[in-house]
Amino acid sequence: MKDSAVSPVQTTEPVPVSNPIQQTIVIQQNPLPISTPIVAVPVENPLPLQSAPLNNKRKFYILAIAVVLILLLALGGVIYLRNQNIVDSKTSKLSTGSSSDTTILTEQPVEEEACNSPLAPAQVRPYVRCYYRQSKISFAEAKEVESRISGTVGSLIIPKDLVFEHEEVYRGIPIKWTSGQPISENTLTWLKRAIDVLPDYFYIEHPLNSIISATDQELGSQTVIKPGPDTLAYASGLNIFIAETLAKGGSTYYPVDRDSAANILFHEWVHVVQHYEALETFTEEYLAKNTLVVAMATGPLEKGFAKEVGWVYNSDEFGDGIIAKLKDDSESQKTTDYGKTKVREDMAESGALFMLCKSDQISEARILWWEKTTGKNRNEFCPSKI
Ligand SMILES: [Zn+2]
Repeated sequence: MKDSAVSPVQTTEPVPVSNPIQQTIVIQQNPLPISTPIVAVPVENPLPLQSAPLNNKRKFYILAIAVVLILLLALGGVIYLRNQNIVDSKTSKLSTGSSSDTTILTEQPVEEEACNSPLAPAQVRPYVRCYYRQSKISFAEAKEVESRISGTVGSLIIPKDLVFEHEEVYRGIPIKWTSGQPISENTLTWLKRAIDVLPDYFYIEHPLNSIISATDQELGSQTVIKPGPDTLAYASGLNIFIAETLAKGGSTYYPVDRDSAANILFHEWVHVVQHYEALETFTEEYLAKNTLVVAMATGPLEKGFAKEVGWVYNSDEFGDGIIAKLKDDSESQKTTDYGKTKVREDMAESGALFMLCKSDQISEARILWWEKTTGKNRNEFCPSKI
């Protein structure tokens, strides 16, 4: 078509430089054809002729582009890794709280993120808001946090050289004792029966690290809560420590039966739930500064319970009030005497009664809170299966 006629003109134009070279080569290779009016030949068939000189150029360009790309990728990688390091060091600063809080809290991006935690109550002071975690941590993580800050929050640390004579796992809960304070057969049976009736909220969602029986001497002088003679067990951090009287199955002064063993286990387990929730809710920095008790008192679990069952805070405008007084009306007062002393004890006492099928001893608001929290009806614990 017309195209072919026009084509020589068109095609010669773009290749003016290579043309002379191509021409000479063509002549050398093909001495004969003067008849080759086909200036179009090199054009139609440009590749073999051009390939030698252009290949090198092309290789050079490809190589250059590849080198530039590699350099760009490497540069990008370095920038990315540096950013990662910055983020990691910021979060670790936030979580370990090793450096001063002013530097941490003024770092803009982290502050933005940390201060918009969905775990923080809406009205909480902006400064306090920064101490709420972004999301709840697992039990394994909570155990790690506890081990790091136990010295400052007052959790009892199990001495590393403590030798357990007996160790078993019952429904996921490790039970251990030393030769100094073995748990009697009766007590062990009572504890296991108590674990049997616990709803998932306890032994699955808020499990214990372990139930431990050891003497005060074995646990060392670090014991923060010195159990008195009337103490049957106590919770410290994520562990429940069995006192001598309960381990032995009671004494002449303090007779223990299976109901009281279950009662004490439930009561202390509620404290472990409170500790775990505090570890889950707040940053390590906050916990180390304020102790678990303060964290528990300001955290959503305890505060939510308190406000629903009749405790009134002196000042809780910013959600960080910790001093509460129980209202005088009979419903609010419907808890044990010990429960009336503190919000956290009220929760522990009412929780134990709820699971012992003794809900009639606590107010309707407390029963409703426990039903909502555990997802169990009050009658599910009746008749008591313990
Ligand atoms: Zn208690």
